[in-house]
Amino acid sequence: MELLNFIGGEWIEDASLQTMPVINPANGEQLGTIPLSTKSQVELAAKKAKEAQRSWALVPAPKRADYLYEIAFKLKEKKEQLAQTLTKEMGKVIEEARGEVQEGIDMALYMAAEGRRLFGETVPSELPNKFAMSVRAPIGVAGLITPWNFPIAIATWKAFPALVAGNTVVWKPSNETPFMAYELAKIFEEAGLPPGVVNIVFGSGPTVGTAIVEHPDIRIISFTGSTTTGSKVAELGGKHLKKVSLEMGGKNAVIVMDDANLDLALEGILWSAFGTAGQRCTACSRVIVHKDVKQELEQRLVEAAKQLTVGNGLDPAIKVGPVINKAALEKINHYVQIGKQQGANLLLGGEILTDGDLANGHYFAPTIFTDVEATSILAQEEIFGPVISIIEVSSLEEAIEVNNNVKFGLSSSIFSQDVNKIFKAQQLLDTGIVYVNAGTTGAEIHLPFGGTKGTGNGHRDSGQAALDVYTEWKSIYVDYSGKLQRAQIDNNA
Ligand code: NAD
Repeated sequence: MELLNFIGGEWIEDASLQTMPVINPANGEQLGTIPLSTKSQVELAAKKAKEAQRSWALVPAPKRADYLYEIAFKLKEKKEQLAQTLTKEMGKVIEEARGEVQEGIDMALYMAAEGRRLFGETVPSELPNKFAMSVRAPIGVAGLITPWNFPIAIATWKAFPALVAGNTVVWKPSNETPFMAYELAKIFEEAGLPPGVVNIVFGSGPTVGTAIVEHPDIRIISFTGSTTTGSKVAELGGKHLKKVSLEMGGKNAVIVMDDANLDLALEGILWSAFGTAGQRCTACSRVIVHKDVKQELEQRLVEAAKQLTVGNGLDPAIKVGPVINKAALEKINHYVQIGKQQGANLLLGGEILTDGDLANGHYFAPTIFTDVEATSILAQEEIFGPVISIIEVSSLEEAIEVNNNVKFGLSSSIFSQDVNKIFKAQQLLDTGIVYVNAGTTGAEIHLPFGGTKGTGNGHRDSGQAALDVYTEWKSIYVDYSGKLQRAQIDNNA
């Protein structure tokens, strides 16, 4: 199927554009093509979005929200079909794909409810017969740039708060996962969203992404992806004085203390490390374990990870699907080789899987290293695959130090039954998300989502915090005294 750009409410055919294939990572099947757009498609999308924004901002927020309710109902109706398509283009197992679509539904309902809140503040003025308030105002056109690992959830985390707040959108999805963008666009159309309110431009990051970041009419950029790309976006966006919200890489850790419930820790680690084949931004990539329980935990982890079935995620018996493409497979393998060379002890996996049908897709074996140095490359860099490094520590203080001593700060977790340790840890772990007695994944959409240090630049997706990304504060003073009243002067004479 040939996917087209969606601009100004129309599917734009343009035979002059080159196309690129979209491949199912589970079996190499070609699912369709996308156009490799140029700067001129971004310019058209920005123009349509700017034109649409004037009237969209004047639609009362509760009425804008009605579109989101409609979108939520349509997402719900199509949940299974969307989940199947998501698994085909991205690879995650079907149960997780259903969960991701549900995240989109939850976000639509949550942000729709914001249409009747969007709270501002009223405060007393320091002068008589004067009223003071602050309201949230839309910024204008929002440029959204999204990755492939959560192709529907992340798009909804960004688009829905942007829309309910009165912005319009130019969105560049990842080339690996354009079908979710296509499906969402169809839903927007069916929900009757006015033309130009959401525009989708497919194409390469350096061409389409750069054109979005540079475009003078796109005033807010919301990016999720790798820290390398995010830094470029921040640099260019900064040069053009834009608001830039960045959600980037992670190197998340589960801490297992000597008093932990090991059954629970085991489940939490397996789910966080090998779910989505380790390609969640919040994936557990390090296990920081107290020396007294290390041997038992690693033995049990290896036994449990051996049972994980690897294959096409459409089969409900499969627990670990493919990784996104050949380049990802090679990158993961590269890190595994470095780990071996640097003396980490490989307990399980460590190889590309090519048996039978697996040869047609991109599969990496669930991999466990132990005795990993906390400062080694394996324990420091984002691998984005089903690979964990076990690091031994002797105390809670050392565990926290190891957790924090990486350049990223997205998610961390601690397993312990000691309330004192737990409260100390939640205070000192320097990540944007902390889990207690649960793995590093499992965010709920009504809480802020994002990270510190190399993971972000202080903004958050999701929750109320997302509204801060897509709105400006406007302070309004209404003087009904009928005379000039000077603040700081007339009331202090
Ligand atoms: P990526 O950085 O390669 O690409 C992200 C998006 O940026 C894509 O749409 C890509 O086409 C675009 N892009 C590429 N070059 C660009 C440029 N020069 N200018 C503008 N846009 C450009 O990331 P990816 O491989 O798609 O996704 C995986 C990464 O995303 C991982 O690092 C993961 O941790 C991160 N991620 C973070 C979060 C979070 O919330 N913190 C969530 C999901 C994924």
